[in-house]
Amino acid sequence: MKKIAVFCGSSIGFNSVYIEQAKKLGEYFSQNNIGLVFGGGKIGLMGAIADTILKNKGEVIGVIPHLLRHEEVVHTNATQMIFTKKMSKRKVKISKLVDGYIAMAGGFGTLDELFEALTLGQLSIENKPVGILNTNGFFNHTLKQLDMMVQEGFLKQSNRDMLLVSENIDDLLFKMDNYMAPNMNKIVHTIASK
Ligand code: AMP
Repeated sequence: MKKIAVFCGSSIGFNSVYIEQAKKLGEYFSQNNIGLVFGGGKIGLMGAIADTILKNKGEVIGVIPHLLRHEEVVHTNATQMIFTKKMSKRKVKISKLVDGYIAMAGGFGTLDELFEALTLGQLSIENKPVGILNTNGFFNHTLKQLDMMVQEGFLKQSNRDMLLVSENIDDLLFKMDNYMAPNMNKIVHTIASK
Protein backbone atom coordinates (compact mmCIF):
# COMPACT_ATOMS: atom_id res chain seq x y z
CA MET A 1 0.00 0.00 0.00
CA LYS A 2 1.45 3.32 -1.11
CA LYS A 3 -1.20 5.64 0.32
CA ILE A 4 -3.61 5.09 3.20
CA ALA A 5 -6.45 7.30 4.40
CA VAL A 6 -6.56 7.76 8.16
CA PHE A 7 -9.85 8.80 9.71
CA CYS A 8 -9.52 10.01 13.28
CA GLY A 9 -10.66 12.62 15.74
CA SER A 10 -10.52 16.34 15.22
CA SER A 11 -10.10 16.25 19.02
CA ILE A 12 -7.33 14.57 21.01
CA GLY A 13 -9.54 12.96 23.64
CA PHE A 14 -8.98 12.88 27.40
CA ASN A 15 -6.51 9.99 27.49
CA SER A 16 -3.00 10.58 26.10
CA VAL A 17 -2.82 6.99 24.73
CA TYR A 18 -4.71 8.14 21.63
CA ILE A 19 -2.32 10.92 20.63
CA GLU A 20 0.65 8.68 21.42
CA GLN A 21 -0.74 5.99 19.10
CA ALA A 22 -1.46 8.62 16.39
CA LYS A 23 2.20 9.70 16.54
CA LYS A 24 3.35 6.05 16.38
CA LEU A 25 1.19 5.48 13.31
CA GLY A 26 2.76 8.59 11.75
CA GLU A 27 6.23 7.18 12.47
CA TYR A 28 5.23 3.84 10.91
CA PHE A 29 4.00 5.59 7.76
CA SER A 30 7.21 7.58 7.33
CA GLN A 31 9.47 4.59 8.03
CA ASN A 32 7.58 2.47 5.49
CA ASN A 33 7.13 5.18 2.83
CA ILE A 34 3.35 5.17 3.11
CA GLY A 35 1.71 8.47 2.19
CA LEU A 36 -1.02 9.81 4.47
CA VAL A 37 -4.31 11.00 3.00
CA PHE A 38 -6.48 12.68 5.60
CA GLY A 39 -9.13 15.29 6.32
CA GLY A 40 -6.64 18.15 6.05
CA GLY A 41 -7.02 19.57 9.55
CA LYS A 42 -4.24 20.68 11.88
CA ILE A 43 -6.27 19.88 14.98
CA GLY A 44 -6.81 16.78 17.11
CA LEU A 45 -5.41 13.33 16.33
CA MET A 46 -5.49 14.17 12.62
CA GLY A 47 -3.10 17.08 13.15
CA ALA A 48 -0.84 14.94 15.36
CA ILE A 49 -0.37 12.18 12.79
CA ALA A 50 0.19 14.69 9.96
CA ASP A 51 2.77 16.65 12.01
CA THR A 52 4.69 13.46 12.88
CA ILE A 53 4.90 12.38 9.24
CA LEU A 54 5.99 15.84 8.08
CA LYS A 55 8.64 15.99 10.81
CA ASN A 56 10.00 12.70 9.40
CA LYS A 57 9.91 14.06 5.83
CA GLY A 58 7.02 11.83 4.73
CA GLU A 59 4.11 12.60 2.41
CA VAL A 60 0.88 14.17 3.69
CA ILE A 61 -2.08 14.91 1.41
CA GLY A 62 -5.03 16.76 2.90
CA VAL A 63 -8.49 16.77 1.33
CA ILE A 64 -10.76 19.41 2.84
CA PRO A 65 -14.01 21.05 1.78
CA HIS A 66 -13.99 24.79 1.06
CA LEU A 67 -16.36 25.44 3.93
CA LEU A 68 -13.64 24.48 6.45
CA ARG A 69 -11.05 26.63 4.69
CA HIS A 70 -11.71 29.72 6.78
CA GLU A 71 -12.10 27.88 10.06
CA GLU A 72 -8.48 28.18 11.19
CA VAL A 73 -8.27 24.41 11.05
CA VAL A 74 -6.52 23.78 7.72
CA HIS A 75 -3.07 22.25 8.02
CA THR A 76 -0.69 24.76 6.46
CA ASN A 77 2.40 22.56 5.97
CA ALA A 78 0.93 19.51 4.18
CA THR A 79 2.76 18.24 1.09
CA GLN A 80 -0.44 18.87 -0.84
CA MET A 81 -3.84 20.28 0.10
CA ILE A 82 -6.82 19.52 -2.12
CA PHE A 83 -9.97 21.63 -1.68
CA THR A 84 -13.35 20.16 -2.60
CA LYS A 85 -16.71 21.87 -3.12
CA LYS A 86 -18.62 19.67 -0.70
CA MET A 87 -18.12 17.24 2.20
CA SER A 88 -19.40 14.40 0.00
CA LYS A 89 -16.89 15.24 -2.78
CA ARG A 90 -14.08 15.07 -0.22
CA LYS A 91 -14.84 11.43 0.52
CA VAL A 92 -14.93 10.55 -3.18
CA LYS A 93 -11.59 12.30 -3.69
CA ILE A 94 -10.02 10.51 -0.72
CA SER A 95 -11.21 7.12 -2.01
CA LYS A 96 -9.62 7.79 -5.42
CA LEU A 97 -6.24 8.49 -3.85
CA VAL A 98 -5.80 5.59 -1.43
CA ASP A 99 -5.09 1.85 -1.30
CA GLY A 100 -6.76 1.34 2.08
CA TYR A 101 -8.35 2.97 5.13
CA ILE A 102 -7.54 3.08 8.83
CA ALA A 103 -9.85 4.49 11.51
CA MET A 104 -8.55 5.57 14.90
CA ALA A 105 -10.40 7.02 17.87
CA GLY A 106 -12.76 9.84 16.89
CA GLY A 107 -16.34 11.06 16.85
CA PHE A 108 -19.16 11.38 14.30
CA GLY A 109 -16.84 12.42 11.45
CA THR A 110 -14.60 9.37 11.97
CA LEU A 111 -17.52 6.93 12.14
CA ASP A 112 -19.12 8.50 9.06
CA GLU A 113 -15.92 8.04 7.05
CA LEU A 114 -15.32 4.51 8.38
CA PHE A 115 -18.82 3.29 7.52
CA GLU A 116 -18.76 4.90 4.09
CA ALA A 117 -15.55 2.97 3.31
CA LEU A 118 -17.14 -0.27 4.59
CA THR A 119 -20.29 0.34 2.55
CA LEU A 120 -18.21 0.79 -0.62
CA GLY A 121 -16.60 -2.59 0.18
CA GLN A 122 -19.95 -4.25 0.91
CA LEU A 123 -21.27 -3.16 -2.47
CA SER A 124 -18.01 -4.25 -4.15
CA ILE A 125 -17.56 -0.73 -5.48
CA GLU A 126 -14.11 -1.01 -3.90
CA ASN A 127 -11.98 -3.94 -2.70
CA LYS A 128 -9.67 -1.99 -0.41
CA PRO A 129 -8.81 -3.04 3.15
CA VAL A 130 -10.51 -1.16 5.97
CA GLY A 131 -8.85 -1.40 9.38
CA ILE A 132 -9.55 -0.18 12.86
CA LEU A 133 -6.66 0.67 15.16
CA ASN A 134 -8.43 -0.32 18.34
CA THR A 135 -6.30 1.63 20.81
CA ASN A 136 -7.45 1.15 24.41
CA GLY A 137 -10.37 -0.96 23.12
CA PHE A 138 -11.94 2.27 21.86
CA PHE A 139 -14.09 0.49 19.24
CA ASN A 140 -15.13 -2.52 21.36
CA HIS A 141 -18.72 -1.29 21.65
CA THR A 142 -18.90 -0.51 17.93
CA LEU A 143 -17.71 -4.07 17.19
CA LYS A 144 -20.36 -5.47 19.53
CA GLN A 145 -22.98 -3.48 17.59
CA LEU A 146 -21.75 -5.05 14.35
CA ASP A 147 -22.10 -8.52 15.89
CA MET A 148 -25.65 -7.59 16.89
CA MET A 149 -26.36 -6.62 13.28
CA VAL A 150 -25.15 -10.06 12.14
CA GLN A 151 -27.10 -11.84 14.88
CA GLU A 152 -30.31 -10.02 13.97
CA GLY A 153 -29.94 -10.57 10.24
CA PHE A 154 -29.01 -7.06 9.10
CA LEU A 155 -25.38 -7.67 8.18
CA LYS A 156 -23.77 -10.65 6.48
CA GLN A 157 -20.99 -12.32 8.45
CA SER A 158 -18.75 -12.12 5.35
CA ASN A 159 -19.26 -8.34 5.27
CA ARG A 160 -18.69 -8.09 9.03
CA ASP A 161 -15.40 -9.92 8.47
CA MET A 162 -14.22 -7.27 5.97
CA LEU A 163 -13.39 -5.05 8.91
CA LEU A 164 -9.83 -5.71 10.12
CA VAL A 165 -9.10 -4.94 13.75
CA SER A 166 -6.00 -4.73 15.91
CA GLU A 167 -4.60 -2.74 18.82
CA ASN A 168 -1.15 -3.11 17.29
CA ILE A 169 0.07 -1.10 14.28
CA ASP A 170 2.34 -3.80 12.75
CA ASP A 171 -0.36 -6.43 13.11
CA LEU A 172 -3.05 -4.21 11.57
CA LEU A 173 -0.87 -3.28 8.59
CA PHE A 174 0.04 -6.97 8.11
CA LYS A 175 -3.67 -7.84 8.00
CA MET A 176 -4.34 -5.00 5.56
CA ASP A 177 -1.47 -6.04 3.29
CA ASN A 178 -2.86 -9.58 3.12
CA TYR A 179 -6.51 -8.61 2.81
CA MET A 180 -8.70 -10.39 0.31
CA ALA A 181 -12.16 -8.88 -0.27
CA PRO A 182 -15.12 -11.30 0.08
CA ASN A 183 -16.00 -11.02 -3.61
CA MET A 184 -12.33 -11.65 -4.53
CA ASN A 185 -12.60 -14.90 -2.56
CA LYS A 186 -15.55 -15.83 -4.74
CA ILE A 187 -13.62 -15.02 -7.92
CA VAL A 188 -10.66 -17.18 -6.83
CA HIS A 189 -13.09 -19.99 -5.93
CA THR A 190 -14.86 -19.82 -9.30
CA ILE A 191 -11.59 -19.86 -11.23
CA ALA A 192 -10.27 -22.77 -9.13
CA SER A 193 -13.41 -24.86 -9.70
CA LYS A 194 -13.31 -24.43 -13.49
P1 AMP B 1 -14.60 13.73 14.35
O1 AMP B 1 -14.33 12.27 14.45
O2 AMP B 1 -16.05 14.05 14.49
O3 AMP B 1 -13.71 14.57 15.21
O4 AMP B 1 -14.25 14.11 12.84
C1 AMP B 1 -12.98 13.83 12.33
C2 AMP B 1 -13.06 13.34 10.94
O5 AMP B 1 -13.99 14.12 10.19
C3 AMP B 1 -11.71 13.50 10.27
O6 AMP B 1 -11.22 12.25 9.77
C4 AMP B 1 -11.93 14.54 9.18
O7 AMP B 1 -11.81 13.98 7.89
C5 AMP B 1 -13.33 15.06 9.39
N1 AMP B 1 -13.34 16.38 10.10
C6 AMP B 1 -14.16 16.70 11.11
N2 AMP B 1 -13.94 17.95 11.58
C7 AMP B 1 -12.95 18.45 10.83
C8 AMP B 1 -12.25 19.69 10.82
N3 AMP B 1 -12.57 20.67 11.66
N4 AMP B 1 -11.26 19.85 9.91
C9 AMP B 1 -10.97 18.87 9.07
N5 AMP B 1 -11.60 17.69 9.02
C10 AMP B 1 -12.56 17.46 9.89
